[in-house]
Amino acid sequence: MSPAPHVGIAGAGLVGRLLAWRLLGAGCRVSLFDAHPRHDRSFAGPTAAAMISPTAELAAADAQIHALGTESLQLWPQWLGQLHAQTGREIYFRHEGTLVVAHAADQGALAHYASLLRAHLPADAVVDDTMQALDAERIGALEPLLAGRFAAGLFLPQEGQVANDQLYVALEQALDTGLAGCGGRWYEGVAIASVGVGSLTDAHGQRHAFDLTVDSRGVGARGELSGLHGVRGEVLTVSAPGVNLRRPVRLIHPRYALYVAPRPGGQFIVGATELDSEDGGAPTLRSMLELGSALYSVHPEFGEARVVRLAASLRPTLPDHRPIAGRGDDGVWRVNGLFRHGYLIAPALVRRIEHDILAALGADLRDAA
Ligand SMILES: Cc1cc2nc3c(=O)[nH]c(=O)nc-3n(C[C@H](O)[C@H](O)[C@H](O)COP(=O)(O)OP(=O)(O)OC[C@H]3O[C@@H](n4cnc5c(N)ncnc54)[C@H](O)[C@@H]3O)c2cc1C
Repeated sequence: MSPAPHVGIAGAGLVGRLLAWRLLGAGCRVSLFDAHPRHDRSFAGPTAAAMISPTAELAAADAQIHALGTESLQLWPQWLGQLHAQTGREIYFRHEGTLVVAHAADQGALAHYASLLRAHLPADAVVDDTMQALDAERIGALEPLLAGRFAAGLFLPQEGQVANDQLYVALEQALDTGLAGCGGRWYEGVAIASVGVGSLTDAHGQRHAFDLTVDSRGVGARGELSGLHGVRGEVLTVSAPGVNLRRPVRLIHPRYALYVAPRPGGQFIVGATELDSEDGGAPTLRSMLELGSALYSVHPEFGEARVVRLAASLRPTLPDHRPIAGRGDDGVWRVNGLFRHGYLIAPALVRRIEHDILAALGADLRDAA
């Protein structure tokens, strides 16, 4: 029996963690490298609102993202169930849809948004199952907090959300156990300068050899992936335990789009700006004013909410806003360009690349068994 094949993953963000966990489960030996300590929350994954919105995103995405999102929406509860069984940790996950509303002056923008979604819906989608027009009464029935505040809206039933902070902690725990069991290692604070076929070279020039390597460094792979860039996003997290919303609410506005997504423990995440900027620095006052005032306009009860966190980071983005997941012409395996859709599409993408990697390592895994 030969030892299990050793996979080296550069980047322990959303994609790197999920892929490492899946490959460990499939019998691989895995080592993970990240430029930051695991508790650093400055990258895109921990900053995100982690909504899983295949329909709402059709305003800015195409049928490929919708299909990956629909598949991921089915995978998330299965994977979270497996993580729970391994770690005993509950991970907040809801699949209760998204409510879309607009103030009276912005009904034109709401109608335009609805027509965009309808135009991009895949031909086989049943419109009533994916988007429903709402009057004031139905808005109040879905979210009593908003009764009487909006005359019209949309309900997108096939949408969900996950608490990414809880997910990250559970993955850390499962990975610690898995890595210890296979003789792999999590190299924290070790930046990878270049990813080659079968080797990772760190920022000190040290070469680490593997049977197979994967580059999942997000915007950290800028120098090695043509066209990869960051799209800045800022979010505000507030605590408002007395305010009840069951599901994410999107507010359509001609100048900025806001969402407010409930989180465990009476918190809400409010976002997100989308700025063509490589600046990953602290949120600006302008953005916080816009997000804060739009939130207050959803319901004045948010006026008493406490600010818990202001955060900004860069979404890893390719020029066509589509992700890549697979082996490139240069032989390097990469998953990147998840843009604003990481939680929406990561399970489906990771499952695909996991399948391809296992096929590539097939003979080694059979020998190791
Ligand atoms: C404000 C905001 C809101 C968002 N909201 C949503 C949402 O509601 N729904 C949704 O689906 N998506 C959302 N996203 C998008 C989602 O967060 C990203 O698509 C996703 O995190 C990308 O995952 P990733 O693993 O590719 O990159 P990241 O999560 O950025 O992880 C990359 C990792 O690589 C590490 N790294 C970087 N450079 C190096 C190096 N040289 N060597 C080693 N390690 C390195 C980093 O430390 C990091 O841990 C949002 C993003 C932002 C910024």
